[in-house]
Amino acid sequence: MSTIMISYGTHVFTKFKGYYGRKEECPYCQRKYQQAYVKFSKWFHLIGIPLFPVKRTYYKMCPICAYPVELTVREAKDQMERAYDNIPEQKIELYGKHVSARKPKNIFAHDFSYDFCVKDLISGEEFCIAANLSKDRVKQIAKERGLKKIPFVEA
Ligand SMILES: [Zn+2]
Repeated sequence: MSTIMISYGTHVFTKFKGYYGRKEECPYCQRKYQQAYVKFSKWFHLIGIPLFPVKRTYYKMCPICAYPVELTVREAKDQMERAYDNIPEQKIELYGKHVSARKPKNIFAHDFSYDFCVKDLISGEEFCIAANLSKDRVKQIAKERGLKKIPFVEA
């Protein structure tokens, strides 16, 4: 008798939808910015093929530290549609920073020489939110913020 392995489960897809609304002070990092809206969709998949959505939700996040507030799809869409307040656009860049000086000498050692950084391109301020990460962890944080890809820079 042979056993057939069938892979199934759920997978979460995320998508950054933009910055909306008035500037709000973050209760965690106290920075005042328009909030990032990120859509999360959890899909049931079979053998790697997404079949149907299990849950859809939005998070309104601080664009600096990602402090999240969960919203229903309806609430998020209402807030995004009403958000024409004639606010000057904010420009924020997210990137992984490779600190090569911290890279381990031993090629077999795990490399935790990456930081996750956010830069306000208007004020020029850089916020390194998390340090000493693996490259995969930086990519995972970018995904949690709804980004498919994140650029890497050398420090
Ligand atoms: Zn914050």
